[in-house]
Amino acid sequence: MPIKILSKELINQIAAGEVVERPASVVKELVENSLDAGAKNIGVEIENGGTNFIKIVDDGSGMNREDAQLSVLEHATSKLGSIDDLYKISTLGFRGEALSSISAVSEFILVTKNSDSIAGTQVSVKNGEVVVEDVGAAVGTTITVKNLFYNIPARKKYLKTAVTEFNHIVDLFLNYCLAYPSVSWKLTHNGKLVYQFPAGSLVQRVSDVLGDEVCENLFEVDTKLNGLTVRGHLGKPQIARNNRKLQYLFVNGRPVNEFIAAKNIKDAFGSLIPRDYYPVYVLNLHIDPEFVDVNVHPRKLEVRFSEPQLIYRTLYQAVAMILDEQELSRQVNSTELKQFVPLKEVLTQGFAFNKQSVEARFIAPHERNMAPTTPSVETQNFASREGTFSPNPPSAEIPSTQPVATTINREVFIPEYKILGQIQDSYIVVETANSLKIYDQHASSERVQYEKIKREWQIGRIASQKMLIEQNIELSPVEARLINDNLELFQKLGFDISVFGANNFAIAALPTLFTNANAQEIILQIVGELTESIMTLEKISEPVDKIFKMMACRSAIKFGDRLSVSGMEALINDLEKLDNQYTCVHGRPCILEFTFNEFKKLFKRN
Ligand code: ADP
Ligand code: MG
Repeated sequence: MPIKILSKELINQIAAGEVVERPASVVKELVENSLDAGAKNIGVEIENGGTNFIKIVDDGSGMNREDAQLSVLEHATSKLGSIDDLYKISTLGFRGEALSSISAVSEFILVTKNSDSIAGTQVSVKNGEVVVEDVGAAVGTTITVKNLFYNIPARKKYLKTAVTEFNHIVDLFLNYCLAYPSVSWKLTHNGKLVYQFPAGSLVQRVSDVLGDEVCENLFEVDTKLNGLTVRGHLGKPQIARNNRKLQYLFVNGRPVNEFIAAKNIKDAFGSLIPRDYYPVYVLNLHIDPEFVDVNVHPRKLEVRFSEPQLIYRTLYQAVAMILDEQELSRQVNSTELKQFVPLKEVLTQGFAFNKQSVEARFIAPHERNMAPTTPSVETQNFASREGTFSPNPPSAEIPSTQPVATTINREVFIPEYKILGQIQDSYIVVETANSLKIYDQHASSERVQYEKIKREWQIGRIASQKMLIEQNIELSPVEARLINDNLELFQKLGFDISVFGANNFAIAALPTLFTNANAQEIILQIVGELTESIMTLEKISEPVDKIFKMMACRSAIKFGDRLSVSGMEALINDLEKLDNQYTCVHGRPCILEFTFNEFKKLFKRN
């Protein structure tokens, strides 16, 4: 082929390929523009995963007609004046490429008005043709992007399903929601509201996005170190996940997916988090823009730090300091210690009544952290962070008032008790140092099971066990649809279900708590709890919680079950280790306690 100069249109389309990879990249650029324009309300409307319709509505500064016309030209930006500015970028955009690129590969309509203009301006771009018109508009900007890549079929081919593309948009959207809690955000898909977050504090936003369970288990971070500021929230060790999804780091308001930074944050947790688990965090790092080069990636997905080691060290130190400051456990002094049942016994006996092998049991990090750090049980010592600081501790510029490397102990000790016996095969009677306690065995066991299910869910999925023989079940179409729509939920609950035929399913594994049970019965019970509402798998929603309660109730020790002494002991120990031990999941009491002082009064011995 002879050499020829490419047409302007083709040049634009090629350039657009760098900026616009998929619908989510359009959303990213437009949302960043809205944030740069100081918007307080940003709405994102998507249809079919953004493949044929994306609309971003903001109430930012807007543009006058002249700027609106310029904005869609290549290399048009109001954010950069000279080469010096490039090294102190404080806006999200600066390359002046987004609108020109997006409008080169879509049917593009921009409607905008600033406070100085009487009329709004509409700029439409299609096939390189720009049309400018008067239009009625409020202050702000609305951009509609239709039929992405309509003119580049080769690229359109690479788009994934609408579901996948939408998931990318959701990921990105939630990142910005967490980075900008003072902005109110809304996302709709195919006309249905998906997320709506009112402007508020970061804690409020974290709770909206990551759920109450996460929100209730956070440490606040607000530290100035090494000339940098680190602010945000750090998940307690017990909510660590087996994936990296709940890790949000923003550098000067820019979501950054930085592996080494993430690793440093995890390292600071030391052995508080098992090896294959990852801490949850939402952290904002503020640094003088001069130290960050944001111009290293066309889609601005990466940043380069001029002193990366300083950043990593700061993150490590900030996290380590917060963890050291926190009292992760009740401190127990040595005289109190003597009165307690050695935890080793608790741990070894804790499984007895479960009728399941210890190997099959999923041990949550939260539970591992319950292991004490006393020398007598040092094999169980998962929790101490002592010695987890790197052999070359970072040359700390930590204020002298801050403890540097204290040990975090997580001790749960159970006061000594004596089991007097079981009455009516239903209640366990126990003597402690100063009281008589009666445990309702079903209520207690239900509470224990419920907390265990909840913990396992929070860190991944509920422990599951393969069945010796697969069970095939056939359900009604309505029930089958509920299962089909919630296969992921069932998987997370510990079921292995495969679909064959319209209403038939093969069950290959059940949650460990239900080994040997009738699969169909349990699945139907869960189906019964399922509503048509969307199940959020990250957060414990009301329907999910109901399922937990049902599972807890079904798998609990029954009234009338005769228990061995070790079975009773295991139940009591498991219950006493919990924070919430006083009621069963239905609100009935688990324990009645009568102090010996009360006895004295009752027998009129005072
Ligand atoms: P950049 O953001 O890198 O400057 P863009 O192509 O994204 O480049 O946008 C070009 C210019 O259009 C911006 O510099 C800004 O002045 C203007 N602009 C774009 N989007 C908006 C918006 N939502 N509100 C106000 N001005 C906008
Ligand atoms: Mg931009």
